[in-house]
Amino acid sequence: MTVLVRLSCLATPTLPGGPIRFRPSVLARHRRRCYNSARLARTYVSLDLETTGLDPQSDAITEIGAIKFTRDSVLGRFSTFVNPRQPIPEHIQALTGIHPADVQDAPPLETVAPDVEAFIEGCVLVGSNFVGFDAPMLDAKGIRRGQEIYDTRDLANLLLPGLPDYGLAALTHHLGIEMRSYHRALADAEMAREVLLALLARAAALPADVLSQVAAWLTPTAWPWRNFFREVWEDVAAGGAAGRSFALPRSALPEPLRPAERRRPVDPQEALAVLASARGRPDVLPQFEERPQQQAALRAVTEALNEGHRLLLEAGTGIGKSLAYLVPAALHARANGSRVVVSTATINLQEQLTGKDIPALEALLPPDGGFMACQLKGRRNYLCLRRFQALRASPNLRDDESRIASRILIWLTQTETGDRSELRISPGEEAVWRRLCAEGADCNADNSPFVVEGTCLLQRARQRAEAAHLVVVNHALLLSDIAHGGRILPPYDHLIIDEAHHLEEEATRQFGF
Ligand code: SF4
Repeated sequence: MTVLVRLSCLATPTLPGGPIRFRPSVLARHRRRCYNSARLARTYVSLDLETTGLDPQSDAITEIGAIKFTRDSVLGRFSTFVNPRQPIPEHIQALTGIHPADVQDAPPLETVAPDVEAFIEGCVLVGSNFVGFDAPMLDAKGIRRGQEIYDTRDLANLLLPGLPDYGLAALTHHLGIEMRSYHRALADAEMAREVLLALLARAAALPADVLSQVAAWLTPTAWPWRNFFREVWEDVAAGGAAGRSFALPRSALPEPLRPAERRRPVDPQEALAVLASARGRPDVLPQFEERPQQQAALRAVTEALNEGHRLLLEAGTGIGKSLAYLVPAALHARANGSRVVVSTATINLQEQLTGKDIPALEALLPPDGGFMACQLKGRRNYLCLRRFQALRASPNLRDDESRIASRILIWLTQTETGDRSELRISPGEEAVWRRLCAEGADCNADNSPFVVEGTCLLQRARQRAEAAHLVVVNHALLLSDIAHGGRILPPYDHLIIDEAHHLEEEATRQFGF
């Protein structure tokens, strides 16, 4: 009964489309799983095991480190070597620094197991990849433990969408936590403790309606960390901060480009000077060196843009062809208020352009005159808010749906673009994403309040492209735009096709029978 009261206290979220009401079936399901668990454990034990290998059945524990703590203080530490009664492989010795001499006189596991069980009893277990490694190892060795696990890897995946790595080392680095020795049990347990405290703080800083929605989604699931968000929500609500709420981004977008009244050609010397300025900017292009082939390519591209003729350019790898076309394209576009589309075939080149070359270009361009570049992708890369809202209204989400819905909702508080690449959708989440993306969505102002409000992420991506001098796309989107009579990309004046040897293949795929 207590749980029902608490759940009913959760603020109903207020994304456009109206607040979500929790139906009785959801509440009943919630009560069934959480009955009698209303008094949440608030004492944690971060625990780490060092072992002879990764197999819980055949490998053995060599060291156990654990820290009992609350949010305010450390209550105790537990640390011991364990005699594994089997050899420690060389590579494990190199990794952990634990050698046979360290463990030969240590107690065997059956001697330390009762102390471990007593230390962790009644506490929420905390660790990095605890669900995937430490818990199965403890189970295989017959050490009794609680079922509630705050795995920092899973929780960070929800709270910090888009990181390339959720391991302990990566998280401590990202969160600015000092990294002590790594792959030693007590040091790793200490880092896991600090990471958890940082994640609790991150969760508490979420807008209250987002936090309450995530808590309502996850608490009824079977995830071992299902109570994490509910615990934070209860603290936030008790602290009186539950009034903060989240609104989808409606920040003003830049104005669409306005073509200049008179066409202004770009002096090739001006373009060469911008490129040459990289000589004095090792912070921008540390490896920069002047290359005659790059300068020749830059001159040819500048003249082609000035005269509006076609140019076929073949350049060997390593001459810096991206900057050879980006510099004149940027100068030409901003001098004339025009737009240049750059189309590529591979994700690698798109990432190189958007992550490295275009930021370098922006740093080299003279500051006056303004310049904006963006990447535009196909519809399947953007979240459809209308579909997401429909998912939120579903009464019975599966556990995997609750997890990705929570991830997306938290991500929505952070994203500027709505681009799925920021979320790093896993293969297991792909099927749910396909139901939520804008591909095939029925977009019009009559049935989508997000169009009227200007919050639709796809629409905002297109509006950003309408304001950009340089738009990076892939061949598939370029050809799709051609097939749809130019209704996908904003109008453009010049087109640069990089990796053009892949264009025929994509054209055959799109236009072939
Ligand atoms: S306009 Fe289209 S993509 Fe955007 S929210 Fe509406 S249905 Fe989804």
